[in-house]
Amino acid sequence: MPLLLDGNVVATEVYKNLALELSLLSFIPKVVFILVGEDPASQTYVRAKEKKCGELGFQGETLRLPASTSQDDLLKLLQKLNKDTSVHGILVQLPLPPQIDRLKVLTSIAPEKDVDGLHPENMGRLCRGDARFKPCTPAGVVEMLKHYKIPVSGKNALVIGRSDIVGKPAAMLLLGEDATVTIAHSKTRDLKAMAKAADILIVAMGKPKFVGADFVNANSVVVDVGIHRMPDPSGKDKIVGDVDFEAVAPIVHAITPVPGGVGRMTIAMLMKNVVTAARLQSGPK
Ligand code: NAD
Repeated sequence: MPLLLDGNVVATEVYKNLALELSLLSFIPKVVFILVGEDPASQTYVRAKEKKCGELGFQGETLRLPASTSQDDLLKLLQKLNKDTSVHGILVQLPLPPQIDRLKVLTSIAPEKDVDGLHPENMGRLCRGDARFKPCTPAGVVEMLKHYKIPVSGKNALVIGRSDIVGKPAAMLLLGEDATVTIAHSKTRDLKAMAKAADILIVAMGKPKFVGADFVNANSVVVDVGIHRMPDPSGKDKIVGDVDFEAVAPIVHAITPVPGGVGRMTIAMLMKNVVTAARLQSGPK
């Protein structure tokens, strides 16, 4: 059987360390989540983030705005929160309704409160190897590799997917760990051969069970970022990833399960960014 990279175990470790960091702060960190519209998945994600804040003893507040909110109104709200010294972190839940320009919004969050790490300044710092906030999901991927002492330096890592939220930052973080990184995307040719030749495979393509046995070898380390809710004959939805776990797990050296893998890490890394934001704003600028 492969080494199972268990997100619950690693997230628990992150929370343990956070509790220690929190005890060293002389105030309670506050993060504001902004949810525009009623996308059911976004509502679930924001509820989970708010709940985790409560468990950790942070102040987590959700501002729920109607789907018809104008870009101007959202930008005004961000200006207000940027200036509010009681707020250390701001997260605008994506996706946003079509009348709102995502980049404009992400650029309008004060970079030192941008706990999602998606402000262009923070993305730039990430590329420079000097990240203030690491985007949460890819940071979770690297945290898992470190926890399980998977060697990364000098290894060939293939990231499948080039989104701003997962693929690109994952590639930058792996580069920062001295991997030789290739980014594959929908126009990449010979994906299977490239995947099979890689030591570390990070799959973030948004295609359920796409990566099968013919993408891996006995030494592959496979990290599955995908999350898909699939109807199951039992009537209860089944959560699957971008990797066909049943086909791939018996072959490879290590693999993340879905659920119970990377998904558990995203909120943990977000909470780590909230503590970093609180620390940044309490210390010298
Ligand atoms: P996205 O749709 O923005 O990007 C998908 C990427 O995959 C694109 O860059 C595309 O070029 C590439 N791709 C698509 N088909 C391909 C193919 N046949 N060959 C090679 N590349 C291909 O998705 P995303 O936001 O990066 O998310 C990816 C997956 O990760 C989704 O399943 C999403 O639900 C999941 N996700 C999970 C978490 C988490 O907390 N675990 C967080 C964010 C996203």
